[in-house]
Amino acid sequence: MSEQHNQQKTKGNIGVTTNNIFPIIKKFLYSDHEIFLRELVANAVDATQKLRALAASGELTEEIGNPVVRITADSQAGTITVSDNGIGMTQEEVEKYINQIAFSSAGEFLEKYKDQINHIIGHFGLGFYSSFMVASKVEILTKSYQPEAPAVKWSCEGDPEYTMETADKAERGTQVILYLDEESKSFAEPAKIRELLLKYCRFLPVEILFEDKAVNETQPLWIRKPAELKEEDYLNFYRQLYPMQEEPLFYIHLNVDYPFNLTGILYFPKIKNRLDISRNKIQLYCNQVFVTDSVENIVPDFLTLLHGVIDSPDIPLNVSRSYLQSDANVKKISTYITKKVADRLEELFKNERNNLEEKWDNLKLFIEYGMLSDEKFFERAEKFYLFKNTDQSCFSFEEYKKAIESNQTDKDKHLIYLYASHLQEQYAAIETAKNMGYDVLLLDSPLTAHFVNLLETKWKDVRFSRVDADIISKLIAKEEPEKPSISEEEQQDLRMAFEAVLPKDGHYYLHFENLRPQDQPVLITRSEFMRRYREMSAVGGGMNFYGSMPESFSLTINCNHPLIQQIIEQKQERTQERLQAVAEEQKNEQAPPEETSEPDPQRRKVMEEFAESCPLVSQVTDLALLANNLLQGEALTAFIKRSLSLL
Ligand code: ADP
Repeated sequence: MSEQHNQQKTKGNIGVTTNNIFPIIKKFLYSDHEIFLRELVANAVDATQKLRALAASGELTEEIGNPVVRITADSQAGTITVSDNGIGMTQEEVEKYINQIAFSSAGEFLEKYKDQINHIIGHFGLGFYSSFMVASKVEILTKSYQPEAPAVKWSCEGDPEYTMETADKAERGTQVILYLDEESKSFAEPAKIRELLLKYCRFLPVEILFEDKAVNETQPLWIRKPAELKEEDYLNFYRQLYPMQEEPLFYIHLNVDYPFNLTGILYFPKIKNRLDISRNKIQLYCNQVFVTDSVENIVPDFLTLLHGVIDSPDIPLNVSRSYLQSDANVKKISTYITKKVADRLEELFKNERNNLEEKWDNLKLFIEYGMLSDEKFFERAEKFYLFKNTDQSCFSFEEYKKAIESNQTDKDKHLIYLYASHLQEQYAAIETAKNMGYDVLLLDSPLTAHFVNLLETKWKDVRFSRVDADIISKLIAKEEPEKPSISEEEQQDLRMAFEAVLPKDGHYYLHFENLRPQDQPVLITRSEFMRRYREMSAVGGGMNFYGSMPESFSLTINCNHPLIQQIIEQKQERTQERLQAVAEEQKNEQAPPEETSEPDPQRRKVMEEFAESCPLVSQVTDLALLANNLLQGEALTAFIKRSLSLL
């Protein structure tokens, strides 16, 4: 320490534009108080790296050894000290960087965002200044690497006044000492410090010591060369980031330095259902300093389902979230990551098809979400999306089209994609379709309704139909349907009889068809359109109108089935006389019955009584309900009783 600097004490006012900036900081940044430690450690790391750069350039001749950053704390006294052996600061530098620049830029920042400060994320690098969120007094003890410069002690008690004097400090570097205020004392607890260091400083490039133990890994995997790394390294890193988590499916190592800087490793996790989504998050770093794990607005929504690390100094952190989306760099980064993800999947499709097929079930929800939400990704994914059929075979879009084209094109030249959402629940319909020589896809993700809708809008002359959406001859109609073999009047009577035994909740639309005698006597199907919109509104898609409608079914009566023919015969035997009587009665009334679509109530009554007296009507109906999981409770018990008595 040179004589002439001794005992010179300066007082001054920190160059802030807003007078009472300290209370503002404390008040508004409440939730993110803890970032002070990150900011101080990051400054210490910067100072160390600057020193290394000087040594590397030859400007500094002395041996620098292995400079580290050390954190010490005294929980009793409520102090935290961050020390480094970096470049340090001269008195002029403290004046410039701490008194003027650091404080005034923080001041400007707060002034600018005063109104919306609550919407701003806490991560805007207030730097050194953020220590006043937790400390009532801050001291800096620093000695520049420049041999002539004396050490400096700077002190400030949380108001715009500071003192600065020369001090005793033999080694080069800086010590920042925080005297925590009453309500922030807990930050000096060792456990708390360890927690914060692990969160923010785990991958800093300079060794960080706390209680004489290094807390960080200075060469995290993402900054290393992919050529040097093995699959096991990537898996180990994943386990380190997300302990207790299932192994990821694939990973991508990102590395770009133009037109922006970005490194990182992204992992595709297993995603089978909504519960798996976003339990773990992508971590965003800026030069190895942890910034946040909420990367919404930085990467496209569907990519937030991925795990891993992105490190980029080019993502502006000191702006509001909504602004981020319009930032040119952020857009480029988004596009880049989307492209890399698509590249990787396409590469898997081309070179590791078996591997991709094996993992497909855990991957497809992510891909469908990406295709639904990102046009560019859709275009890429058309090449590698895999359709899986009910026999577990996988096809690309192109392969599948080729496979079904000749057999599943209907009379109107529409190519019909048949699918099931559940192998067991739709078993009968799947079998029927397969027996006709058709192929049935298994589309069982929660996004299926949205997804097939999207494909229908993208592809010309293509329809998707769930196998149970109608009778198979109508799903893929190859010719005009035959007219039912029974008369209109007969149909109307039977309709009334069946309506009498159908459940009252739910709408059933009755049709008559000449199917084969070996087909089912009665078939229940759910209209593709209504079902799909109900499903879409359940997942969320602004279709609440459809979602709130009661479920509707289509009930097809097979006129050629022997049991239906029996019912028709019995109906004639048992109701002919009574129906004639009803007709007579109506003739005698003055006005002849008008041609209305509403059947006569007396006639309906006769048919209802017939349905009651003929257990076959209930029996064939219940069988159809049962095949569709629609027979429950009392109705199911009645069915069992009736079946036993019929046997
Ligand atoms: P930023 O780090 O964003 O520049 P800060 O307010 O954290 O803002 O710091 C202002 C400046 O003070 C730094 O740019 C650096 O020049 C100087 N500084 C802060 N901490 C240290 C330190 N530990 N060693 C050397 N210089 C430092």
